[in-house]
Amino acid sequence: MRGWGPPGRSAASPSAPASPAGRYPAPRRAPLWTCLLLCAALRTLLASPSNEVNLLDSRTVMGDLGWIAFPKNGWEEIGEVDENYAPIHTYQVCKVMEQNQNNWLLTSWISNEGASRIFIELKFTLRDCNSLPGGLGTCKETFNMYYFESDDEHGRNIKENQYIKIDTIAADESFTELDLGDRVMKLNTEVRDVGPLSKAGFYLAFQDLGACIALVSVRVYYKRCPSVVRHLAVFPDTITGADSSQLLEVAGSCVNHSVTEEPPRMHCSAEGEWLVPIGKCMCKAGYEEKNGTCQAPSPITNVKKGKIAKNSISLSWQEPDRPNGIILEYEIKYFEKDQETSYTIIKSKETTMTAEGLKPASVYVFQIRARTAAGYGVFSRRFEFETIPVSVAASSDQSQIPIIAVSVTVGVILLAVVMGFLLSGRRCGYSKAKQDPEEEKMHFHNGHIKLPGVRTYIDPHTYEDPNQAVHEFAKEIEASCITIERVIGAGEFGEVCSGRLKLPGKRELPVAIKTLKVGYTEKQRRDFLGEASIMGQFDHPNIIHLEGVVTKSKPVMIVTEYMENGSLDTFLKKNDGQFTVIQLVGMLRGIAAGMKYLSDMGYVHRDLAARNILINSNLVCKVSDFGLSRVLEDDPEAAYTTRGGKIPIRWTAPEAIAFRKFTSASDVWSYGIVMWEVVSYGERPYWEMTNQDVIKAVEEGYRLPSPMDCPAALYQLMLDCWQKDRNSRPKFDEIVNMLDKLIRNPSSLKTLVNASSRVSTLLAEHGSLGSGAYRSVGEWLEAIKMGRYTEIFMENGYSSMDAVAQVTLE
Ligand code: AMP
Repeated sequence: MRGWGPPGRSAASPSAPASPAGRYPAPRRAPLWTCLLLCAALRTLLASPSNEVNLLDSRTVMGDLGWIAFPKNGWEEIGEVDENYAPIHTYQVCKVMEQNQNNWLLTSWISNEGASRIFIELKFTLRDCNSLPGGLGTCKETFNMYYFESDDEHGRNIKENQYIKIDTIAADESFTELDLGDRVMKLNTEVRDVGPLSKAGFYLAFQDLGACIALVSVRVYYKRCPSVVRHLAVFPDTITGADSSQLLEVAGSCVNHSVTEEPPRMHCSAEGEWLVPIGKCMCKAGYEEKNGTCQAPSPITNVKKGKIAKNSISLSWQEPDRPNGIILEYEIKYFEKDQETSYTIIKSKETTMTAEGLKPASVYVFQIRARTAAGYGVFSRRFEFETIPVSVAASSDQSQIPIIAVSVTVGVILLAVVMGFLLSGRRCGYSKAKQDPEEEKMHFHNGHIKLPGVRTYIDPHTYEDPNQAVHEFAKEIEASCITIERVIGAGEFGEVCSGRLKLPGKRELPVAIKTLKVGYTEKQRRDFLGEASIMGQFDHPNIIHLEGVVTKSKPVMIVTEYMENGSLDTFLKKNDGQFTVIQLVGMLRGIAAGMKYLSDMGYVHRDLAARNILINSNLVCKVSDFGLSRVLEDDPEAAYTTRGGKIPIRWTAPEAIAFRKFTSASDVWSYGIVMWEVVSYGERPYWEMTNQDVIKAVEEGYRLPSPMDCPAALYQLMLDCWQKDRNSRPKFDEIVNMLDKLIRNPSSLKTLVNASSRVSTLLAEHGSLGSGAYRSVGEWLEAIKMGRYTEIFMENGYSSMDAVAQVTLE
């Protein structure tokens, strides 16, 4: 049994006769017979089908392949580069005239990335032995391919007989000297597969026993069924099974705004094809199916220009063909042609609008979409209209001078009458305001709202291309401007680091950098950057500020302002009891102000909790953790409900748990829970109760008891936020006003919730819920963080759990 010999120890017999120079045509070197024609052709073949994922493609490796030849004078790499100076990793061996050849070429270790069946595609040329006069005795026209599995890079030194043979590879087409003269290339392609694989990776080896071969490329890949949307269900990228006849059953998840009719499933075949769809999702009421998505109103198609002046353009349009509900308003986006990063949004309840303040003789692009209770429809196609030049406007003004003269006279007479009407509060039927009071307007520049009149959050899902949304709302930062210093946390998509950002002409800033881990899928990239598309729309001191994104180089990053004290729940737990009531109320005020801003923008957070608030060194709290549907996916607190959604039960309003009614009012409920977390320094809401018990208790009307030493006014506000009827809960602006009042009048915070009412609420909460699990009253009170009340219980005769169980709410 022979191992891989030390370099230089030839496998061929040292006494093998040297080739009689001149007797045979010397095999040509690769530059001539491989590169000349092959490189250009090969580079055009690089793209692999979308259901094949490359583990190795020797044609795309820029540096050294790291392959090893034994003996050293057997296989040799041809150090050539293509027309773009990229290396061409061609290996050749041509010892056709020497006896006893046994030349091995070993690849480096190849990870199988979880695939259990892999494919190897070889491209090679092989010299026809008949074209080698006299060499027929030793010349071969085949070579062998082997593999060896290992979990890591060890194993390169294993013995050759431990390699498992995959196959003997023969050429379909060999070539002769004559072919070369005609420049006819006979490139062979052979594919073999190997499986099931059980380790993390493998080596390949090619054994030559005396042929004249040029191994031009080696591509190793596995097959997958690529992510697809079928019957309104998304099926994820799925690696095919180990067996060549295996069908894998894969569950799909309903696209946004759709619900399961029958659980969707499909089958992924070994060839990477989706087969046999079963079940499906259906669009929710108010949505219609379009291109695999559930969309609201259909697009507006009929937009007509009205009056066009030098500074204004009036438009009118018709309702969409399929409104799918009552149209609440229209949103009109417009910008000067080729200046898309600086646009204006106007809202109108009418089917007309006038854009004012435009430049003369300039083309403007308009897009309109409708909103129903189900949300926005897609934008119409772009309509372009041009304002008239100043000269034209002036001449039309000139031509009107006589008319104006008459009008002025009449006007003076009428003025008194009109003034009378106006002063008496009546409106002349013709004096329509320039901008319809129903119209709301806001301007954006590079994703930032320029004039904060009425602002609206734009769901990045409404963009056909999510990359466009990122670039509309987030600034692209060059990676060279960022210095990463240390890892500070772990996000769903990769590490969170602290570091510094130095933009040209600006001072250096401390920043937090979220990175997208390598090997991400397109969907992960989209979801990851989705957070930036949302964050980039906000500009408020209590909302985490986005500095920008890095998307043009890897790793993809989201860069935000740095919050020295990290997440609020951890910070409060670390500093238990360390703050004055006013400091705590200050934190709550900040969070409420951030939430007021979000609700004004029409953004519903859905996952408001102390863990999703960041706090800086000045104790300023900022709302963070924005996402598309994924928000709830990556929250470890989120649990699946019976209706299939994932929800952080303890923080979520009952109507959102029961029928996914997420609104700013459900955010207010969560805010009440955050208040409770803050005042109790990071205590877990409802302690160790199970999610099911929490849902049941809240449904039955139980509410969290006041935290220890809690000002009565704050606890009352919490209870208000937890009103069952969502319309009875305070709005965020009312909460901000209330907290402002408390801060201005600190003595109002002196009245604490009295201890006995706290005890009775706790009894109501815990007397019926789980007290049976404890052996003594003291143990139970400790478990619910009420140990200090043990004495009161004893004094009042509640010395056993039986006695506690008898306690009624009264
Ligand atoms: P996330 O993925 O947003 O939940 O972030 C994970 C963790 O990273 C958080 O819990 C924080 O501890 C930390 N982190 C995220 N963003 C920041 C930031 N802007 N400043 C400081 N720490 C942050």
